[in-house]
Amino acid sequence: MNNDHQIESLLSNNNLNPGLRKIAEKVKNEERISFDEGVYLYEQADLPYLGILANYIRNKRHGDLTYFNRNFHIEPTNICVYDCKFCSYSRMIKQREEGWEMDVDGMIDIVKKYDKEPVTEVHITGGVVPKQNLEFYADFFTRCKAHRSDLHIKALTPVEYYYIFKKAKLSHYDGMKYLKEAGLDSMPGGGAEIFHPEIREKIAHDKCTAEQWLDIHEQAHKLGMRSNATMLYGHIEEFWHRVDHMDRLRQLQDKTGGFQAFIPLKFRNKDNQMSDVPEVSVVEDLRNYAIARIYMDNFDHIKAYWAMISRNTAQLSLNFGVDDIDGTLDDTTKIYSMAGAEEQNPAMSTQQLVRLIKDVGRKPIERDTLYNVINDYTDFEFEDEVKPKFYSLPVINS
Ligand code: SF4
Repeated sequence: MNNDHQIESLLSNNNLNPGLRKIAEKVKNEERISFDEGVYLYEQADLPYLGILANYIRNKRHGDLTYFNRNFHIEPTNICVYDCKFCSYSRMIKQREEGWEMDVDGMIDIVKKYDKEPVTEVHITGGVVPKQNLEFYADFFTRCKAHRSDLHIKALTPVEYYYIFKKAKLSHYDGMKYLKEAGLDSMPGGGAEIFHPEIREKIAHDKCTAEQWLDIHEQAHKLGMRSNATMLYGHIEEFWHRVDHMDRLRQLQDKTGGFQAFIPLKFRNKDNQMSDVPEVSVVEDLRNYAIARIYMDNFDHIKAYWAMISRNTAQLSLNFGVDDIDGTLDDTTKIYSMAGAEEQNPAMSTQQLVRLIKDVGRKPIERDTLYNVINDYTDFEFEDEVKPKFYSLPVINS
């Protein structure tokens, strides 16, 4: 059954409750849903219903196209002056001896390792330490661009920038401008967590506020840079906090149009100060992707990090609004594995990622950071490929 038929079939069901019917009609008519309707979805909508709506939007925007990129990560330090309760990564308090703090030469050496590789992006994020200041990053961005000008630098979040600019006594705008001129191209979406102070103060009390996070993205957008936005869900927040979070992003996106992808991040409870908080189920992960796709009507892309949610859930998520599963990591990031993700050594070749997407009937598109198409793998056959049997996802056949 194609997507139009699925939504028609849903609407022809006389047993559908009036609240869910109204939302389904809005989605069909491409109308925005309200804050209260977002909360209503979290409280009342089951997975098959959400899948139909989210898949309808996803397929209207992107058809079967499913994006990934070829990138590598640099994590300049895993030591951090902040104290986020959900963080499994920072070695500031415990296990300081396991900490690392790179210098610019060390970071450039990592870039050089990829000289012969067809990567298009370096993704840089990690902890916050005084030595890695404005001049440190300006120096790294300049040298990185001098070495390889075609490599897109997607680096740091407002958590780092707020700290760095404050120490350098620069406004958010002037700081971003300075680093853009040094070579910074765009910003990843981290550090957003949950914006509402009721939750933020409990899980991330000492880092930048929601307003500071949003302002730094706004200044970057003013300078013509693009960025992403995340949401850390599934811990102590309530459903309305998630909607509040998405709503603040939707409002800024209405103003600037500078966001590319929204990336829900699942809270993992290994080795952190919130280990007593249980993790949510895969069903809740999929419901959350779907509601994000429905609510964030001005975001082009919903992204799932396969390294964080596992390959199987990443495949499933493609039927619940997700159209991007990030990059071909080669074990260069520790952020997910240290938090307890299923992928303890996240590495996937282009061939494996292409197969993962094709296996669920979607079309793999390699993109650059700005979603320009680099390669369409839809009809591409790798020489040594053993094709597994194709199967359809057993969902949403209402
Ligand atoms: S989440 Fe980021 S800012 Fe918070 S303690 Fe961990 S590394 Fe530092």
